[in-house]
Amino acid sequence: MEHKVAIGDRVDQVCVTCGEERGHIVASVSKAGKITRVSCPICNSRVPYKGGATRPTATKTGAPYDRTRTYRRGQTMLHPNFGEGEVTAVIESGKIDVLFADRMRRLVHANA
Ligand SMILES: [Zn+2]
Repeated sequence: MEHKVAIGDRVDQVCVTCGEERGHIVASVSKAGKITRVSCPICNSRVPYKGGATRPTATKTGAPYDRTRTYRRGQTMLHPNFGEGEVTAVIESGKIDVLFADRMRRLVHANA
């Protein structure tokens, strides 16, 4: 089954810089719809997409997402709509980027 990929989608790949398998963000897609480059949200390295090794990595389960809570990079959460996610960046006060199983989303936090 072909899944149409788009820039911003999530794919799992081993990051050479981080030294572990993690979700990467699709950075470029060829005309044929194949992923050509991905970027690691943790170290920001942009690497060619290796492909193949996609498997769900449900190793850690985060606490339910709570917008009043203050998150840090690397924390995991369980969102009621998007599922398991990992905080990849704190953007500015009150905003975080979270990598979910399908793509990156921007959420609010520390919103008491
Ligand atoms: Zn990395």
